[in-house]
Amino acid sequence: VGPGAGGGGTRFDLEKETELRFEVETGEKVHLELLTGLAEVFGSELNRNKKYTFGPGSKIAVFTWQGCSVSLSGKTEVAYISKDTPMLLYLNAHTALEQMRRQAERDNERGPRVMVVGPTDVGKSTVCRLLLSYAVRLGRRPTLVELDVAQSGVSVPGTMSALCIERPADVEEGYSVQAPLVYHFGSTTPGTNIKLYNKLTSCLAEVFSQRCEENRKASVGGCIINTCGWVKGSGYQALVHCASAFQVDVVLVLDQERLYNELKRDLPHFVRVVLLPKSGGVVERSKDCRRESRDEKIREYFYGFRSVSFFPHAFDVRFSDVRIYKIGAPSIPDSCLPLGMSQDDTQLKLVPVTPGRDLTHHVLSVSCADEGEEGAGGVRRGVLESPVCGFIVVTNVDTQAQVMTVLSPAPRPLPRHTLLIMDIRFIDLK
Ligand code: ATP
Repeated sequence: VGPGAGGGGTRFDLEKETELRFEVETGEKVHLELLTGLAEVFGSELNRNKKYTFGPGSKIAVFTWQGCSVSLSGKTEVAYISKDTPMLLYLNAHTALEQMRRQAERDNERGPRVMVVGPTDVGKSTVCRLLLSYAVRLGRRPTLVELDVAQSGVSVPGTMSALCIERPADVEEGYSVQAPLVYHFGSTTPGTNIKLYNKLTSCLAEVFSQRCEENRKASVGGCIINTCGWVKGSGYQALVHCASAFQVDVVLVLDQERLYNELKRDLPHFVRVVLLPKSGGVVERSKDCRRESRDEKIREYFYGFRSVSFFPHAFDVRFSDVRIYKIGAPSIPDSCLPLGMSQDDTQLKLVPVTPGRDLTHHVLSVSCADEGEEGAGGVRRGVLESPVCGFIVVTNVDTQAQVMTVLSPAPRPLPRHTLLIMDIRFIDLK
């Protein structure tokens, strides 16, 4: 380690099977360059002599199987080399999954369906990314199923999605998200509406299974399911539900022995439950840090990344031209429910929202649902189970004129008129 690398950076020489971990300070940028040897960032290979830029708050590990030297420039909060990483165990997990894919190919069966679970901040998303990148580097086409509604790697927060992975994640910007399948959940914790959460998990499982029937590569590639860090009570039940909906073959439990034992006890015996250690490099993120990264994800949706800028549109939408719904009526005591109705029904009910000032800053999903007839009692069918085609943010509401101003990725008019409100707000500072 020492100064003197090209461009005024600090040079780090890494032995084989070690990693350089660094965090970027708030408001700063850090440039990384691979000088010699081979290295990867969460499974994606680095190109030699290319400058990679990481923005504020990034927490990165540059791992090398063979040894390498890299240069870092810019302000890092920490930067150190660690020899103690679980990468060999993660590689073994990948090798076992690849064997399952080979066998699936031979026997005309389906490839492995893997669920990655564990409490918050154990590196679940990172392990998913690693396994997906290794699989795609071998020519596989695995599917990422993103059930983490707080920190989605695919779409904006408050959504559940699936994405066919065709290339390793971009070192700086993550997955290339062309044509993901996205469902509206509406909040950043599954507990807000666990019934809806489980229903959407089943929807995704169904669509994935259909795709596997039509597409042999997708079937052999299997899927890697990223889950939420809520592993107790209904959160745990949601994991069991997911395992059964997707008919998973493998569960990778990160870091928590109790969860491992519970799942071993409760899942069918043919499901392989494996306990893996978490990496010492995974950084605990504060509430603020999580909020910031959620905000950043929404900003990226509208404004793009460093390499590609998007130019969103602002326009007025008349209240009379759209129908806005919230999913789930507030729960009321059982004794007050109409005869024959259960609490479950209220959680999956579409409740019409009358636009008012309090709609300002809310993110709304634009539903792909058919805009047909309304059913009995004004309840529209199919909206819950329909994917979304995009998102808008309400930037202003004029109740006098009966219009709202929205920020939209595409120019007017809106492609569809059924809008679903999220608990999530985004304040557009541009
Ligand atoms: P959550 O439950 O909140 O979704 P998680 O368990 O999925 O969290 P990750 O998002 O994978 O955890 O990791 C948390 C943070 O730690 C991320 O910013 C990631 O980039 C960073 N990180 C993961 N592994 C390492 C490592 N080996 N060295 C440095 N940073 C790492």
